Amino acid sequence: MSDPLLDVVRKHWGFETLRPLQREAMDAAVGKRDSLVIMPTGGGKSLCYQAPALLSDGLTVVVSPLISLMKDQVDRLLSRGIPAAFINSSLDSSDRSRVQAGVGRGEYRMIFVAPERFAAGGFDRILEKGDVRAFAIDEAHCISHWGHDFRVDYRELGRLKREFPDASVHAFTATATPRVRDDIVGQLGLKDPAILVGDFFRPNLKYRAVMRTRDGTAEILDWIRRRPGEAGIVYCIRRSDVDELAAELKRAKIRAAPYHAGMEDEKRTRTQDRFASGEIDVVVATVAFGMGIDRSDIRYVLHAAMPKSMEHYQQETGRAGRDGKPADCVLFYAGLDFRLWDSILQKNETSDLDTKKRMLSQMFNFCTGARCRHRRLVEYFGQEWTRGPCGACDVCGGEIGAVADSTVLAQKILSCVARTNERYGPAYVADVLRGEPTDRVLERTHDRLSTFGLLKDQAKTALIGWMRQMEDQGILVPEGEYGVLRITEKGRLVLRSEQEVTLFPVESGSQAKKTRKTKGKAEAVRATSTVERGEEPADEPLATSDEALYQELRELRRQLADARNLPAFMVFSDKALRGMARQRPATPAAFLQVHGVGMTKLEQFGETFLSVIRSRAPGK
Ligand code: ADP
Ligand code: ZN
Repeated sequence: MSDPLLDVVRKHWGFETLRPLQREAMDAAVGKRDSLVIMPTGGGKSLCYQAPALLSDGLTVVVSPLISLMKDQVDRLLSRGIPAAFINSSLDSSDRSRVQAGVGRGEYRMIFVAPERFAAGGFDRILEKGDVRAFAIDEAHCISHWGHDFRVDYRELGRLKREFPDASVHAFTATATPRVRDDIVGQLGLKDPAILVGDFFRPNLKYRAVMRTRDGTAEILDWIRRRPGEAGIVYCIRRSDVDELAAELKRAKIRAAPYHAGMEDEKRTRTQDRFASGEIDVVVATVAFGMGIDRSDIRYVLHAAMPKSMEHYQQETGRAGRDGKPADCVLFYAGLDFRLWDSILQKNETSDLDTKKRMLSQMFNFCTGARCRHRRLVEYFGQEWTRGPCGACDVCGGEIGAVADSTVLAQKILSCVARTNERYGPAYVADVLRGEPTDRVLERTHDRLSTFGLLKDQAKTALIGWMRQMEDQGILVPEGEYGVLRITEKGRLVLRSEQEVTLFPVESGSQAKKTRKTKGKAEAVRATSTVERGEEPADEPLATSDEALYQELRELRRQLADARNLPAFMVFSDKALRGMARQRPATPAAFLQVHGVGMTKLEQFGETFLSVIRSRAPGK
């Protein structure tokens, strides 16, 4: 049976089969039915508008924000024997006349246009001469305020349907939550669109989120060293982090290079080319690196810190394993990342601050949550999860070290929810559990409940985090506008000890500052929540004299952390302190030998710790 679409794909691209949803997307384009196609990064969106463009007369106009890639895209099409051109600000007037003449003669099947050509009240004059058959809008989420990448010029695309009534409009994006999806349809004025949502489940990607308990650099180095010769990307938040980490990796003889928007174009292109050709294995980058990475054998994507939204996370990790073979995605996070992003947002975001903050919180909940990572991602993107455990994440794989006595902890929380008659949200329940005599608590005489102060040694963020985890596990459900917590059937089984619960450590996030001020409390959480994450074997117990020094070092750490408003583990981990107590280094060089001590820490805290250790040297 003849299949003209597949014939075109075979002839020009050499692919033998179509990927999921490509057929449906192409049918819409061929039939000139408006469409919105949502496919994960790497799913093969471009083919969905490129192949149909060859099947019929007329011009397909591709709107793309990726101006720097247009020339490449056009060159690639030309090399496949497909006549194409682009219009953006890089063209001079003679190029423009040439393209204009070509459009007038109907020479091209596809033309790439930058969105700004549609701004300022008029469409690019060049298009008026052409027989425009269809528009393909790439990265269509840029039209929505609810998305993570709003671009004003995209709003002008709402006029396409009016000014080109005979052309169909096809929107493509990798990142559309249901809200963004509706917005795209509305803003573009799509008529009876085919809405095609691809499968966001990428079973070959193994997801892990790991709380940074040691210096992040050491963890990343460890990781990369175990994967010699494999291609990987490490994402950092700031340009300076990128430069430092890339230098560190190079010192460790890893073939790595940096990539961020602050570098000269030439250097950036060089990194990209060297990575594409396999000359280097690792790119350390900010979010700027990604669009247009042409390497399908990326075996790991590491996040040295938490990204600012699930959209970013999905897109960045989606670059791994495009060849379908197994790949790892490891996210190293800390509450500090949350606060850093929060301050960056406060400083830079003039519009949509609330949306951005909500996205940030969702990302943080992903990290600290107890729900299958794949499932949470898939559901975030509006797709129903109909599978069981994914078999490809740290939660399902039981890799995350649980908090000791999780079930008892959950029972205490549940009792408090029950005693306050299931009428409050997590923050209030946490106040009661912590024994905080706030006005609200006193007014309601909840200070007389048996659950008042039942978990007074836990940080508020930890308690709230655990309640969120209990929501994830269907033990509690938030209801109504205020997210009042109610106990589910499963929750009642837990209360009656007929069901076990596993809770995971929660690092303090948005409210960490508040809790740290209450002396000793954050420290107490660390004590339960630094539980091993299945990576480091537990330490040998300390000798009595070492234990005394260890306690002294902990006190010192607490003072230093409080003074700097840092979580204690950011100064040194418990393990590092135990190492100091045992090894008793007397010199900076010896200090560096202690596990978890690097140059930065030595410079910052070395002298202070060394002087305490020296003063406890035997014979003093
Ligand atoms: P997206 O834009 O969705 O991120 P691309 O269009 O860049 O994805 O496609 C990702 C990769 O998949 C490209 O290397 C492309 O050549 C390849 N690809 C697309 N469709 C097919 C197919 N049907 N068979 C094999 N490879 C394909
Ligand atoms: Zn899972």
